[in-house]
Amino acid sequence: MPNSAAEKYDVLVLGAGPGGLAAAVSAHENGARVLLVERERKLGGILKQCVHDGFGLMRFKERLTGTEYAQREIDRFHALNIDVVTESFVVDIQPTDGTYLVTTQSAAGMCRYECKAIILACGCRERTSRQVFIHGDRPAGIFSAGTAQYFVNIQGKMPTKKCVILGSGDIGLIMARRLTLEGAEVVGVYEIKDAPAGLSRNISQCLNDFDIPLHLSTTVTEVFGQERVEAVAVEQVDKNFQPIPGTRQVIDCDALILSVGLLPEIELPNMLALPIDPATKGPVVDQTMMTKAAGVFACGNVLHVNDLADWVSVSGEAAGRSAAAYCTAPRTWNDNATALQYERGDFLYALPQYFDPTASEPLTLYFRSREDVAGKRVTLDLGGEKAAFSKKYRRLIPSEMEAVTVKEAASGTVYQLTMHN
Ligand SMILES: Cc1cc2nc3c(=O)[nH]c(=O)nc-3n(C[C@H](O)[C@H](O)[C@H](O)COP(=O)(O)OP(=O)(O)OC[C@H]3O[C@@H](n4cnc5c(N)ncnc54)[C@H](O)[C@@H]3O)c2cc1C
Repeated sequence: MPNSAAEKYDVLVLGAGPGGLAAAVSAHENGARVLLVERERKLGGILKQCVHDGFGLMRFKERLTGTEYAQREIDRFHALNIDVVTESFVVDIQPTDGTYLVTTQSAAGMCRYECKAIILACGCRERTSRQVFIHGDRPAGIFSAGTAQYFVNIQGKMPTKKCVILGSGDIGLIMARRLTLEGAEVVGVYEIKDAPAGLSRNISQCLNDFDIPLHLSTTVTEVFGQERVEAVAVEQVDKNFQPIPGTRQVIDCDALILSVGLLPEIELPNMLALPIDPATKGPVVDQTMMTKAAGVFACGNVLHVNDLADWVSVSGEAAGRSAAAYCTAPRTWNDNATALQYERGDFLYALPQYFDPTASEPLTLYFRSREDVAGKRVTLDLGGEKAAFSKKYRRLIPSEMEAVTVKEAASGTVYQLTMHN
């Protein structure tokens, strides 16, 4: 254990992606003494490797690349002279008497920090090949899409000359285009479901514009190769995802790139034994972004996988504001907070999972529909005379997250989201 005395802060922000940067700035601007802790050498999180554009339309009213978006947030952060430690990995968090003791591991050794509030902003991780059932060999050449993106965009190295992409998540679609632009042949994107997982704009701009075929209801069932991937087998599947006999095709390639989903990084939430929502796979929070542990807040992809960095920044700002307020007026989880009710058949997920009527933070509700539906109305009832929100959507699709901010005060005796005609 470290032998020096713990340095004291009001708020420790863990993770320096867009969520953590916005949270640190917002907590600082609301009067807290803040330390930002990041395990990597540079700030910016996943955006460091996103050289494509499409970021910041909401926050900056401009079309930025991920790196440009991150740089704006980093510049804003540095201009405020907020303390930061990089190459520091959080290895332990212990609740003490009304504070938290956070231990980090870095090149300088182990350091300890004592703080009143913590903001978890540690992002998400990719599902790996171990989480996908494929027969055959495990040679070199099987990458997650994020790893392939890191090789190309950060290291300047090509991981493949000819590849197959399994899964139609956004990173896979973006990498199909990126690898094509860099001279590789992308044979196709194979998706087990009957609808793509990624954003429609990515299907159009990353696949259609480059004549890369998308094969729905089709999956990779076998990998061949000793040292390196030499080929994969693909098969069409029925509605139970079982291969349809007679549809097997073997494709020569030197890499299989997996884009089979992202999951909130819950190592730190687990360390604190925080309740996890099985729908979002991230910790449960109220509208102030506070988890069930008093003084522990969460924002960005650790809560649920966002498709737009802009919303990650919005949740970071809310967490920062709330954490700073907590430092001057500590509170415990309100056991009378109202739990969100919604039909699991209509929505993939919705959050925050609780509405605390005693908290002053306005509610921003995030949700995804379970199916591709047209002409449905979504209504949020917060116990007022009128619905807190009601909108008829032309189309709702699971790959596109929706967000709604409710400005008016509400009794919060009811907290219910419904989808109807
Ligand atoms: C490939 C890809 C393409 C995208 N394309 C778009 C797009 O076109 N437009 C758009 O708006 N959005 C896009 N997004 C979404 C957006 O980039 C993400 O939602 C956003 O970056 C998530 O921010 P975050 O701060 O929650 O997490 P991250 O950016 O992942 O940051 C988390 C940080 O926490 C650190 N960390 C984790 N654990 C620890 C620990 N124990 N100790 C210390 N530090 C730790 C990590 O090193 C990391 O820096 C894309 C995302 C990806 C992955």
